[in-house]
Amino acid sequence: MTDCIFCKIAAGEIPSQLVYEDQSVVAFKDLSPKAPVHVLIVPKKHIKNIAQFQDEDKDLAAHIFVDVVPKLVDKLGVADNGFRIVINTGNNGGQTVPHLHVHLLGGRKMTWPPG
Ligand code: AMP
Ligand code: ZN
Repeated sequence: MTDCIFCKIAAGEIPSQLVYEDQSVVAFKDLSPKAPVHVLIVPKKHIKNIAQFQDEDKDLAAHIFVDVVPKLVDKLGVADNGFRIVINTGNNGGQTVPHLHVHLLGGRKMTWPPG
């Protein structure tokens, strides 16, 4: 999508602090980190949010959670102490960028419930 900041980051048109890239996904450091480790895992395909996943996205969804998350939490050193995965969705969910992204937060003790 032409006017989407995460599409532009995924295409390398806007700089980011990339921590991972493969054929279908990028992961980069959040510009405004809420924890010592705060990375966004973003599919290169423009999907507005998790509610917009289609049947054709099953492999992508599995890839994110079965391949990318375990690899990244090892790489970022948060696998043992734990971490939090957040997918803000839509207005009430607090989503500000309308391109699906998975927040990976770690490096500190998280609180519950979220705000
Ligand atoms: P959300 O509120 O769940 O939509 O999350 C959007 C996240 O994207 C926020 O945590 C922002 O700090 C982050 N963000 C926005 N623009 C950029 C950017 N250019 N590079 C890295 N992170 C960004
Ligand atoms: Zn996009």
